Amino acid sequence: MKRILISETSAQVGQKEITVAGWVHARRDMGKITFIDLRDRSGLLQVVFIPSNKELLEQARVLRPEFVVRITGEINARPEHLKNPKLVTGGIEMLATKLEILNESKTPPFEIDKDTAGVNEELRLKYRYLDLRSERMTNNIVQRDKITNSFRDFLRKNDFLEIETPDLVKGTPEGAREFVVPSRLHPGKFYVLPQSPQQFKQLLMVAGLERYFQMARCFRDEDQRGDRQPEFTQVDLEMSFVEREDVISLMEEMVIEVVGKIAPEKRIQQLPFPRITYKDAMEKYGTDRPDVREDKNDPNVLAFCWVIDFPFFEKTADGGWTFTHNPFSRAMPEYHEWLMKKENLGEILTSQYDIVLNGFEIGGGSIRNHQPDALHRVFEVMGFSDESITNQFGHMLEAFEYGAPPHGGLAFGLDRFVAIMCGQPNIREVIAFPKTGDARDPMMGAPSEVPKSTLVEAHISTDI
Ligand code: ASP
Repeated sequence: MKRILISETSAQVGQKEITVAGWVHARRDMGKITFIDLRDRSGLLQVVFIPSNKELLEQARVLRPEFVVRITGEINARPEHLKNPKLVTGGIEMLATKLEILNESKTPPFEIDKDTAGVNEELRLKYRYLDLRSERMTNNIVQRDKITNSFRDFLRKNDFLEIETPDLVKGTPEGAREFVVPSRLHPGKFYVLPQSPQQFKQLLMVAGLERYFQMARCFRDEDQRGDRQPEFTQVDLEMSFVEREDVISLMEEMVIEVVGKIAPEKRIQQLPFPRITYKDAMEKYGTDRPDVREDKNDPNVLAFCWVIDFPFFEKTADGGWTFTHNPFSRAMPEYHEWLMKKENLGEILTSQYDIVLNGFEIGGGSIRNHQPDALHRVFEVMGFSDESITNQFGHMLEAFEYGAPPHGGLAFGLDRFVAIMCGQPNIREVIAFPKTGDARDPMMGAPSEVPKSTLVEAHISTDI
């Protein structure tokens, strides 16, 4: 018999030979009858074993939670008083006629039929494959898939191409420490893992592809402050022939569509999203991620806002200058001259725009410097010598000499957005296999030592 999904069984009342398969969620022995709640990816089904089939009943009494079984039986409507409106299959049950145990299970280290939120997180992460079987965690992953696809649908509909960029790259100065990957073939040389696809997406604009997006994996080797992950996902995009207004309005359209599709019960507080200058945000809220919710107790309110007009540069501890957000950003047009003359550096505003939701920064981007001399100037301001500018960014400056179109873009933090949409307290709850707060994977045991021979091959000697 072909297996059908539990969600399809309600339509099979009266059928004598229906086969379902899944995990034993719970077993209840009630006098002479045994009930099993069977779970598959689509839901729960009550299966009954009765004494008239003694052998089968005995077999059922061996079942324990998380055993994997295939059951064939008859689908019957439940008597009115036994209907359970909370279950998709609450109006029916299966009377088993055949049971096969496909695999046994040890007793799980925590209960899967309950919310695992209160279970020790280290244990949940060690047995993540069990944690993910719990209803809340499964729902988070399903919701994440829906959200990802809603972003994808919107962007494809708007002519964006999904393009993969490499993970073994040359370093980029976007502010975070990078993970270093030794090159076996080139002794003493290293790749780094991308902290974002920034340079590649800009080069795709030079390539004339005009609209790019990617569900981009980004890596940042930072001390794990707060709710951060060393690798995370951004909905990363870039567009040619746009100004700040174009990007902001398309992004609003995208977010409104995605929210409407996946969480119609949520209410966006203000449309268009309010805009707050960095200066006002700092003065009024003391932060550049203002939580502008009027009612912070309403779980369904989504208060988006844009923060704009950030200073381009800030002083470093040693008296030099560095960028506040992204060195590839363009200054606001009215400040272009100051940048070119390297004057009034602290007052130059950048085209950077950050999108904030309920007090969390969920994305940011900018219009870029597509003219090589302006980009060169930014690196000069940051104290780079001509030689080091050529070494580190020569490829970008050169590319911009071949007809680079004006362009700009943005990256959304997918993990944070999903966490807020799912009402989850941290991003680990919406990532299938996250790392701990101190960047470990307790399930696989990463990071780990590697055999000496691997180190030798990669030309690495350690002093540990
Ligand atoms: N690359 C930037 C970031 O990761 C986003 C952008 O400017 O598009 O924050």
